[in-house]
Amino acid sequence: MTLNIQHIREEFPVLDQEVNGRPLIYMDNAATTQKPKKVLEALSAYYTHDNSNIHRGAHTLADRATRSFEKTRTYCKEFLHSAEEEEIIFTKGTTEGINLVAATYGRKFIGKGDEIIISTLEHHSNIVPWQMLCEETGATLKIIPINDKGELIMEEFDKLLSEKTKMVAVVHASNALGTINPVKEIIDKSHKVGAKVLIDGAQSSAHLDIDVQALDCDFFVMSAHKIYGPTGLGVLYGKREVLEAMPPYQGGGEMIKEVTFEKTTFNEIPFKFEAGTPNIGDVIAFQMALEFVNKLGKTNIRKHEEDLLHHAEHQLKDIKGFIPVGTADQKLSVLSFLIKDMHPFDVGMMLDAAGIAVRTGHHCTQPLMNRFNIEGTVRASFSVYNTKEEVDKLCESVRKIAKLKNK
Ligand code: PMP
Repeated sequence: MTLNIQHIREEFPVLDQEVNGRPLIYMDNAATTQKPKKVLEALSAYYTHDNSNIHRGAHTLADRATRSFEKTRTYCKEFLHSAEEEEIIFTKGTTEGINLVAATYGRKFIGKGDEIIISTLEHHSNIVPWQMLCEETGATLKIIPINDKGELIMEEFDKLLSEKTKMVAVVHASNALGTINPVKEIIDKSHKVGAKVLIDGAQSSAHLDIDVQALDCDFFVMSAHKIYGPTGLGVLYGKREVLEAMPPYQGGGEMIKEVTFEKTTFNEIPFKFEAGTPNIGDVIAFQMALEFVNKLGKTNIRKHEEDLLHHAEHQLKDIKGFIPVGTADQKLSVLSFLIKDMHPFDVGMMLDAAGIAVRTGHHCTQPLMNRFNIEGTVRASFSVYNTKEEVDKLCESVRKIAKLKNK
């Protein structure tokens, strides 16, 4: 199915504005996507008609809010193809999901002499929680290296795997370069040595079909705001038996079965990991974002975004001074680049002056930038509402900017 992009754009009110006197061209989608009207309306409808605390109220509003909230859990179960709703835990986002696993599974099951494997491509949120755990427990962090195209060197991964490996935590698709990792192979190999696997799906979840049962990962984390949903909300998927074996993360309301001053017993999953009043309105509105993606179909979305990427690459490759960073064979529509003799931040400012929103800097992947001996890149990342005309304008602006220093 060919998507009607103009029609899709009408669902995103934010796109209809000028920035610096030019029509906004929003290409910072790897940082966060814009939200369709239905998400905004659902948020407003919740606070206008249903606002109430969930799970423990005897009244009608509490019942309505609870049902709506739990309906999103069912949507997420279907989105990730998990076996049960109970395996879906609402978090603040990918960062919290990883911290939760490191702090609970990690503290209980990983100890001195054990090893945790991550990769050079990781976002800081899939590095720092494991480093903190290693400092606390005496475990060691091992890093899968990458080649010059920004792809994992799988032979090196094979060498790192051993009986000592207790956790392998890797990004499904790199936010900085777009590289899509061979996660199925990583999961299967890790399981052979008895390690658990966490997949950071912050970038992949909006673009690739995710089937956690087919992947057989132990944990999968994602953020709603990168899938057209609200900020400050995410999902942690975990296999039932693994989640049940883990201690709770935070203590408080909702996560308990019974509290006395002598002893507390904990609730069943998923509530064991959802202490306190959750982000009810945003969880409910997230349904609309998932519906938006389901309606368009990820295959169609990906096809459109890939067309945009190829359209851009084709025009950019001949520009004098244009240096692509990350040229993996399998990648999302993320275009990371440098202009010779120019600072990425200056390029970003000039693009902003042309109404084009991109991200510049290290993209929370400093070790990855170090691997390429650079401080950062300029990153344009495409989404379903971007058009070929917008890509043309990006390329035209990059050409003009590059000319300033590359005659
Ligand atoms: N991992 C990756 C690959 C990401 O792109 C991001 C967000 N940039 C995160 C983790 C963290 O997500 P959040 O800030 O929503 O917790």
